[in-house]
Amino acid sequence: MQIAIVGAGVIGLATAWRTAAAGAAVTLIDPSPASGASSVAAGMLTPVSELTYGEEPLLRLGLASRDRYGEFVAELEDLTGLGTGYRTDGLLQVAFDSDDLTYLDDLRRFQESLGIPVQALTGRESRRAEPMLAPGVRGGLLAPRDGSVDPRRLTAALLAAAERLGVRLVRRRAVRLLTEGDAAAGVGLDDGTAVRADRVLLAAGPWSGDLEGLPPGSVPPVRPVKGQVIRLRTRLPFLTRTTRGLVRGSSVYLVPRADGEIVLGATQEELGFDTRVTAGGLWELLRDARELLPGITELEFAEVTAGLRPGSPDNAPVMGPAGPPGLFVGTGHFRNGVLLTPVSADILSAMLLDAPVPDVAGPFSPARFSEVRA
Ligand code: FAD
Repeated sequence: MQIAIVGAGVIGLATAWRTAAAGAAVTLIDPSPASGASSVAAGMLTPVSELTYGEEPLLRLGLASRDRYGEFVAELEDLTGLGTGYRTDGLLQVAFDSDDLTYLDDLRRFQESLGIPVQALTGRESRRAEPMLAPGVRGGLLAPRDGSVDPRRLTAALLAAAERLGVRLVRRRAVRLLTEGDAAAGVGLDDGTAVRADRVLLAAGPWSGDLEGLPPGSVPPVRPVKGQVIRLRTRLPFLTRTTRGLVRGSSVYLVPRADGEIVLGATQEELGFDTRVTAGGLWELLRDARELLPGITELEFAEVTAGLRPGSPDNAPVMGPAGPPGLFVGTGHFRNGVLLTPVSADILSAMLLDAPVPDVAGPFSPARFSEVRA
């Protein structure tokens, strides 16, 4: 079986690795692997803190992926000898004022109604857990099983694993879907050459619908949702775990890494394919972060970046057959693509290889949007 995967972000890379590990011949096509959202993302593995009413199937998918992470990175690290910065030290969510605390209380009740263990902390207990928090922090919620990974190290390890298992990397842009009869037969590239394949997976983030020749019903309903992040550095201990704050209704998070990097994010902006870093975006992040952690102003500034999350109409991934026989999509992972990498790779590689697909995949088929359109 010849498989062509368009896009080498976390989703395309992990699917290429798992599909090659199952014995298929895989070609991965990307002019600049791991240059999209996957290189900007903070890498929080936090299905619980992002929980929203009505998104219970996404929560189940997120929990399944979080619980699969340890085994996934262990296999990856063993195979490649490369680290991924995977950590399981929990997530602390804190509230800045009493309205923020009311929101956290509601979230805790919702989480408990779904049987998810979280621990409510007072302001003092939150500061005991993270001593750099501001004295005014009103209270918090600890999700002990959440964690984080360094997406840049993760993509480097995935690329090494894929290449080690014989995945052919083609550094070109895919421009066209090739068909034979009505079935997918490969993709045409921007240099005029072609990659022939029995199965084609579109995993190019918000660009997944860009190929010419896609029948209208096959274009995945994804749009770019811009996010700006700041990378800071510290030589002294500052935070021990991922910390999210609600500051007068506005959300901010900080993800510490073992090497002293701290990722501060993120804005959420509907501006099309715009990746400019703006003064206003950075100001909002620094303003809210300083309210929670006043010492942040002493940290060294390292980098600012903006990336494009692949957003779908219901904020959930779109994974499955996309119309013409042999054509599949794997995108729409929005704010959770790094978290959802292991489970998405399991689902997509099973689909590409006609193997049994994990049950959690059920609600995420592209068919849910065709039904809406019909
Ligand atoms: P991408 O990483 O965008 O990769 C798409 C790839 O497709 C790119 O490499 C691009 O070069 C390639 N491509 C595009 N067009 C073509 C073409 N025509 N031919 C071939 N290749 C092509 N998720 C989490 O789980 N936790 C987080 O903490 C988190 N934080 C985030 C913070 C920010 C600011 C942002 C922007 C995102 C964050 N995310 C987070 C979301 C996560 O980054 C995305 O969901 C995930 O990276 C999507 O991965 P992907 O492989 O689908 O797309």
